[in-house]
Amino acid sequence: MATPATQGRICRNFIHGEWVASRTTRWVERRNPADLEEVVSVVPLSTAAEARDAVEAARAAFPAWRAVPAPARGRMLARAALLMEQRKEDLARLMTREEGKTLKDAQGEVIKSVRILEFMAGEGTRLSGETLPSDLPNNFVYTLRQPMGVVGAITPWNFPVSIPVWKIAPAIVAGNTVVLKPSTYTAQTAALVVEIFQDAGVPAGVVNMVIGSGKEAGGALLEHPDVQAISFTGSNEVGARIYGSGAERSKKCQCEMGGKNPLVVLGDANIELAVEAALYGAFASTGQRCTATSRVVIEEDVADRFLESIVSRARAWKVGNGLDPDVDMGPAVNEQQLETDYRYIEMGKKEARLLLGGERLTGGTYDRGYFVPITIFDDVAPDSALAQDEIFGPVLSVVRVRDFEEALGVANSVRYGLSSALYTNDGAKMFAFIERIETGITHINSPTVGGEAHLPFGGMKATGIGLREMGHVAVDFFTEVKSVYIDFTGGKRESRTY
Ligand code: NAD
Repeated sequence: MATPATQGRICRNFIHGEWVASRTTRWVERRNPADLEEVVSVVPLSTAAEARDAVEAARAAFPAWRAVPAPARGRMLARAALLMEQRKEDLARLMTREEGKTLKDAQGEVIKSVRILEFMAGEGTRLSGETLPSDLPNNFVYTLRQPMGVVGAITPWNFPVSIPVWKIAPAIVAGNTVVLKPSTYTAQTAALVVEIFQDAGVPAGVVNMVIGSGKEAGGALLEHPDVQAISFTGSNEVGARIYGSGAERSKKCQCEMGGKNPLVVLGDANIELAVEAALYGAFASTGQRCTATSRVVIEEDVADRFLESIVSRARAWKVGNGLDPDVDMGPAVNEQQLETDYRYIEMGKKEARLLLGGERLTGGTYDRGYFVPITIFDDVAPDSALAQDEIFGPVLSVVRVRDFEEALGVANSVRYGLSSALYTNDGAKMFAFIERIETGITHINSPTVGGEAHLPFGGMKATGIGLREMGHVAVDFFTEVKSVYIDFTGGKRESRTY
């Protein structure tokens, strides 16, 4: 697909409203992970100097952009929502070819991103402060929100449309300008997203994109004195480094990272509903969602029934190229992730009881890409690596427990705290779970994955540092709050007598 953003397969940077060829001498090919013979994108590893050019463009655009009334900024997001809906199929097909998720999941991601844009458009009319009573007579006190300046957005490959959207939309509606540094695995998809903002009328320099390695292009954003804030989503290893480096340079940082999300099933639950949720939560998008169900924590008396059902249903799932409408699960994103999945599978075979999968997929379509089998382990020890580490693949660990208290303890026993789910019909246990589960998102009788555009998204513990994304609170990160004191007594301030 040739668009101004990509010139066919060759990805370009977007700086001050222009699609510019990178000056780098280093390029990588991005191949379709379901069909390694197809080169989907040719991706520049842009230099630090090019990242600095993008920051300069964003800095230059900031004064005029902050002066645009916020409702007018919001209307540009409303136009972007319409354009994105019209380009849903192009975006979804490209996403499937670039990162492997099924077309249905890719279409769902585009629609979710449209909803985020629609919601954030309205934030242009809701960027409110507070009016408060003053402690002094004839004084008026209030707060207002202001943009910060240039914001860096560093994003992963696994939601290549919605994560850039959920960072760029609140940043620009609040009056900031942005430099996006997307993952090189999904650079072309990111370019189409940026093109939508351009076509929606967002002025030159307000949204910029530099494609490159984390270390060089991402590092240049982190080090640049004109970048006021960094919004990062990705692995814990990188996020921790970014947060530390941001602190040293007095930059505001928001880091959303890994998950190890539990789905808890109690004895009184509707077991078929729980099976459905675990199946979709664990294996859709090849388990490569930060909110994927990677652990089922289940009361012993219903475990066999649950497992019999999930194994027989998972066996019917077709693994293959996500463009094929009959396929339920696509490939791993790259060779490194493929090897990580198989490493944990081998570990699991030694430590736990293998119920499904576990063998390398070979032959036919499987030899063309990075395919991993749907794998389920029973009797997983809650403190084992299988139950503790974020694998990011289609590997489900089942931990059997005696009762609700033990289930809650196991659910909370990991360092992550993104999402969780509880299946039960017991109202008291629902509320106890909501109160005590250590995750930023929790679902009762619904899967660990999925969230609505107007609710906050993010995790507790090692998953998230900094403020939440999405929903109304998203603008908290992207604005400074100014407190204003107006004295209309006309006289000098008396010392307080009460
Ligand atoms: P990653 O950490 O490898 O890369 C994320 C981004 O950081 C990429 O753009 C990368 O180029 C950049 N980067 C890498 N090193 C850098 C450095 N030294 N300085 C600056 N930037 C650098 O993550 P990934 O493999 O792309 O994504 C998968 C991870 O993302 C998983 O751990 C997943 O759980 C997490 N994730 C979290 C959420 C959430 O909201 N909590 C959502 C989606 C994905």
